[in-house]
Amino acid sequence: MSTAITGSQPEAADRIITSYLERTGRSAENYALACKLMPGGTSRQASFWSPYPLVIDSGSGARFQDIDGHNYLDLINNYTAMVHGHAYPAIVAATQQQIAKGTAWAAANEPHNRLAALIVDRVPSIEQIRFTNSGSEAGALAFTIARIVTGRTKLLMARYGYHGSPLEFEIGSFGNEGPITHLATYNDLADFETVLNEHGHDIAAVFLEPVMGASGIIAGDPDFLHGVRAAAHKAGALFVLDEVLTLRFSRGGCQTEIGITPDLTMLGKIIGGGFPVGAVGGSSDMLRIFDPADMKVFHTGTFNANPVTMVAGEVSLRELTLDRIERMDELCKTLQSGLTAAAKRHGLPFSTNRYGSCLNIYFSQSAPESSVLRDDELLMNNFHLACINHGLFIAHRGLIALSTVLTKEDIAEALERADMAMRDVAAETGE
Ligand code: PMP
Repeated sequence: MSTAITGSQPEAADRIITSYLERTGRSAENYALACKLMPGGTSRQASFWSPYPLVIDSGSGARFQDIDGHNYLDLINNYTAMVHGHAYPAIVAATQQQIAKGTAWAAANEPHNRLAALIVDRVPSIEQIRFTNSGSEAGALAFTIARIVTGRTKLLMARYGYHGSPLEFEIGSFGNEGPITHLATYNDLADFETVLNEHGHDIAAVFLEPVMGASGIIAGDPDFLHGVRAAAHKAGALFVLDEVLTLRFSRGGCQTEIGITPDLTMLGKIIGGGFPVGAVGGSSDMLRIFDPADMKVFHTGTFNANPVTMVAGEVSLRELTLDRIERMDELCKTLQSGLTAAAKRHGLPFSTNRYGSCLNIYFSQSAPESSVLRDDELLMNNFHLACINHGLFIAHRGLIALSTVLTKEDIAEALERADMAMRDVAAETGE
């Protein structure tokens, strides 16, 4: 079984891990206590790594500080969600103002309309929207809509795609079919057509990411995406585009660039400005099933569309301008070529997938079909911990996602730190 599934990781090299243990005594104490209280000491698998994760005390701009007092340049930004970095002043001001006025009540609030209007204005296929508290909930809600609209019970998604942690999606993200989950190969239209020909009568919706995120930043071919949409419709299934991660790549999501109109769009991450959020958008016709005047399904949630998330999301979206998106993309290109050159200098095998401001790195000659299938865990774990030892923070699976507050100088600094980390990795590998 892949280590990605079991969560176990190969032990990092001696000197790298010794240095990590020496620097992070208070994080270790926190982990020991956490393990008594939570299975594996965590509530979030994606922010766990061996031997234990850092405990962060505070963040500001492009940096954060752990409880042992070390500073880090943050190149993952909470898996793409903190698109303006930490404690972004305009978000702090807007949320502080809102918090002082109250944070949630069982009635409507005005910021809800403002964030919804911003999204409707930016994302062309969205006429109406429903908010949730996570992208995972958005996936579950999109699937509920599809089941009600079509009267069918199953879904089709890409093998190794990611649409959140409800079980019907989770097994697919590890490459397994299940009682309600069919899988086909990403960027292989014929494979999707085959599954739809065979099982289409049971399939309520086809879910796709326009760029696969968790699988390692793999861009969907526009012809493939258009083709799957047509095949889904031919089979009488809905086409759901998951833009939870990809909204950061352009003003209106990848759908504007590709010119594709999904039946439903999943959103999350940046639309909450750093607070828990998710959403499903689509035509008013499609979302009519929630309308209290003619309700087909009961959708609610104690914290759905709470005003703090709504004001934070409003600032986050307003301030994510095209200029800033393009600047992040340029910085990410610089980072990509700098990291590639550093790996070459240190004699390490290296490859990258990049789309816009996101990059996935691999310590292998070529990128695998999915991060789930990677075979470079030992080098990757060494590099991840070595980066931390040198004050640089990336995801342990090699994902990097930039923020708008990073500067050219920050990227130059990140490359210096990564160079030192690669030197440590190469030294351990050579022995
Ligand atoms: N869909 C995609 C494409 C995602 O990247 C994610 C989160 N990484 C989700 C859904 C689930 O979102 P959340 O973590 O907010 O539940």
